[in-house]
Order: sequence, then structure tokens, then C-alpha cells
Amino acid sequence: MRFIDPHIHMSSRTTDDYERMKAAGIVAVIEPAFWLGQPRTNVGSYIDYLSSIVGWERFRASQFGIRHYCTIGLNSKEANNEALAEAVLDILPRYLAKEGVVAVGEIGYDDGSAIEDKYYRAQIQLALEYDMLVMVHTPHRDKKAGTVRSMAVALEMGMAPGRVIIDHNNEETVRDVLDRGFWAGFTLYPNTKMGSERMVEVVRQYGSERIFVDSSADWGVSDPLAVPKTARLMVERGIPQKDVEATCYGNALAAYAQSGQMLESHWLAAESVDQRTMFEGNSVLRGQDPRVGAPQVRAEPADAMAFK
Ligand SMILES: [Zn+2]
Repeated sequence: MRFIDPHIHMSSRTTDDYERMKAAGIVAVIEPAFWLGQPRTNVGSYIDYLSSIVGWERFRASQFGIRHYCTIGLNSKEANNEALAEAVLDILPRYLAKEGVVAVGEIGYDDGSAIEDKYYRAQIQLALEYDMLVMVHTPHRDKKAGTVRSMAVALEMGMAPGRVIIDHNNEETVRDVLDRGFWAGFTLYPNTKMGSERMVEVVRQYGSERIFVDSSADWGVSDPLAVPKTARLMVERGIPQKDVEATCYGNALAAYAQSGQMLESHWLAAESVDQRTMFEGNSVLRGQDPRVGAPQVRAEPADAMAFK
């Protein structure tokens, strides 16, 4: 079985993670623009960060046989710094048009402040102007209200719900999201309430239409193998194969393929890995022999799961 992790922050992960992900069957990832754990102090930090997720990180993933896409946007936390937010809004258009950018995101509400609302709306407007998809981060506090508000504003502004991905859902929000015709992403963090066990039951109850899972792995405690591990648990718990494939691969592809930037042929007909390749004069190697040819893996057997 093949997997897509449609929400993962690879720029804060290691090459070991890329190797384990490849071994577990992950063929493509989407890296949403987000914050860095501490606030950026000026727009230059944004410019360099956005340049890296459309550039170096995309290259780095390719060196391990994984196709990398990203979403571009101003996150809700940093929207609260108005001077920064204004400057970021001005530079977003130059990144939205880059190859491999599949949506405006992750955007939405954190505290739900008026200023977050202003920049959420401004970025939906950008998505409409550039005919792009939107990826929404729903708040961790007051999740249900924040989720409903995010969808209401998107609809009010004229976004088609089928072109909006609502992420970080749980059992309290999934019905609202599906009923309104949006895509429902579920982030599975290890040792938390919304983990793989609960996800199995969500799929058992709601089926697989417009539902998909992701890891949102970043610099915090998180698991870049959350998608394949959840798939394995679904299989063990008797979820039909077609629903496992839809929630761990097919639906994320169907949602983001609407961008025209993400196609299954990108990995089915992928060129083989060539670690002799450079990106602006730099490679991922530190004196190792370059791997050339079909992507090989150097993972522990435990990671090479039985999905073939
Ligand atoms: Zn994220």
C-alpha cells in the first residue's frame, strides 16, 4: 500500500525520518507553511522560510524518493503581529505561483481575534483571485466553534467547500465538516486523545468519504509514521481495505490534485533517486557514497511494514 502524509513539517525533521517514511510506503508529503515555535520578527524570515519549503526542502525530499509539495500562507498566530502580517501578505503572491504549491494554508483562527479574522479573510481572497485551494488549521481551544466559524467565513466569501480542506478535526467537528461538503483532515499525535485508536472508530462510524489522516509532525512530540501506522491499525481492526486506502492515500490525492500541481504520475513514473544531484551547489551528503537508482532504504526492519 502507498501512503500520502498531507500535513507534515519536514523542514524540522531529519534524514532518518525521510528514510523511515520511504520504507513505510510514504510516496508524497505536503508541507504547510507554519510558524517556527517562536515568532518571526520580520518579513525577511518569512521570505527565507517560504523559499526553503518551495526549494531546498522539496529537493531534500527528492533525494530520499519522496515527492514534496507545500502550501503557502500566513499562520494565524503570526497574523496577530499586524506590521509583520501586512508585509507577509504583500509577498505571498510571488510564492503562490511556484511549482508544487497546492494551496493557500495553513490559515485560520488561533485565538479568534479580529486581526486573525482580517488576515484569514484576506488570504481566502487571495485563494479566490489565484483560483487556489485553501487549507484551514482549526484552533486547539474552542475547536468546534472555531471550525464552524472557519467554514462559515469561507462559504460567505464564495469558496466552494470542495476546494477547502479543514484540518485537525475530531469527533466533535467531523459531522459539521462533512455535512457542509468540506474535506476533513485528522491529525494523529502519539499518546494523545486524537490518536490512531480513535481514528479507527471515526472511519468505522463515518466511512471514508472526504476524510483523510496526517501526522502534522514538526519540531514537537509527533510521529512522521502516523499515517502508515494508523493504516495498519485500521487493517487489524477490520476496516475495509478501500476505506484504508481512501483515508491514507486516495482522498488526500483527490483533494489536492484539484490544484493541478499534484499528480499521481509524479511518483508512479518517478525518476530514480540520484544523490549526486545538487541544489544550488549543496547536496544532502556529508561524505557518504551517493545512492543512485531505485530508492533504497536503510531503515530498521520494524519500520518496513507489511504493506506491499
Ligand atoms: Zn501544521
